[in-house]
Amino acid sequence: MTEPQTINKLDLESIPSGIISRYFLNLVEDGMGAPIKLPLIVAKGYTDGPVIGLTAAVHGNELNGIPVIQRLFKEIDVKKLKGVIIGAPIVNVPSYLRKKRRFLDGVDLNHIMPGKETGTVSQVYAWRVVNRLVKHFDYLLDLHTASNGRVNSYYIRADMSDETVRKMALLQNAQIIVHNPPSDGTLRGTADELDIPAITLEVGNPNLFQKGMIRDGLTGIHNLLGHIGVTDSEVEEISDETVLCKRSYWIYCDSGGLLAVHPNVTEIVEKGDKIATLRNVFGDVIKEYFAPERGVVIGKSVSPVNQAGGRILHLGVIK
Ligand SMILES: [Zn+2]
Repeated sequence: MTEPQTINKLDLESIPSGIISRYFLNLVEDGMGAPIKLPLIVAKGYTDGPVIGLTAAVHGNELNGIPVIQRLFKEIDVKKLKGVIIGAPIVNVPSYLRKKRRFLDGVDLNHIMPGKETGTVSQVYAWRVVNRLVKHFDYLLDLHTASNGRVNSYYIRADMSDETVRKMALLQNAQIIVHNPPSDGTLRGTADELDIPAITLEVGNPNLFQKGMIRDGLTGIHNLLGHIGVTDSEVEEISDETVLCKRSYWIYCDSGGLLAVHPNVTEIVEKGDKIATLRNVFGDVIKEYFAPERGVVIGKSVSPVNQAGGRILHLGVIK
């Protein structure tokens, strides 16, 4: 086990080959002038090759990606590596410590990427994450989970119209892939603008470690590393059980009350199937919700208290 070294800059040239290095990268200073440091794990092979970047916990309470990254570095043979793997298990350090999704100023970091060089607290943090870390990558895998009060399948968001990105997504052996063009403000969108092929892995539920999901996430990443030739991992055949969606959207409550959502994640619902029941505080059914079309349940709300406008279910329209 090597002691982590504190650095101000990630210089790939000077990182030793053939071992796994650990770093704390100084990013910004807190209100006492003390550095807030990004933990990094770097595996650099003896042979040159692409730089694969893995990021997790951009939302501070999305934890499943952390052990995915930790275990990946336990499982690879760095001496045989052709290229570099950089893992950032916790991107949003202040929010991780507070067990919160959003940044210190209440802003969602994954809505303001790439931030600003001189800007607000969250903008500066985002800018430095992109410029001190993400710019080194040739490929990006950004690991997320559902938000508080919701559960997710293991699904991938990817621009399936881009051949490289499409292959990256298919290799993950996920339950569901949603075609989703990279959108402004997300880390994936910023990577795309920097010509770094990127996918988002949505690995289950927030605030938890889910063993099965963590294993599935790892399998897909090994697959990708083997496919690109960074490792000699055997590439598992692309699963024909993965459900491909051409788009997806959330269905919302239009009035408030206590909500029960009926289908489970990954279940296929037909048009007209009852998907949710809303009761008032006295227990009377006040509304039932039905699937507007056939689709697969990507995620759903598990938090019963819903004001008008609350989320019910994330429906994927199957390709
Ligand atoms: Zn997230």
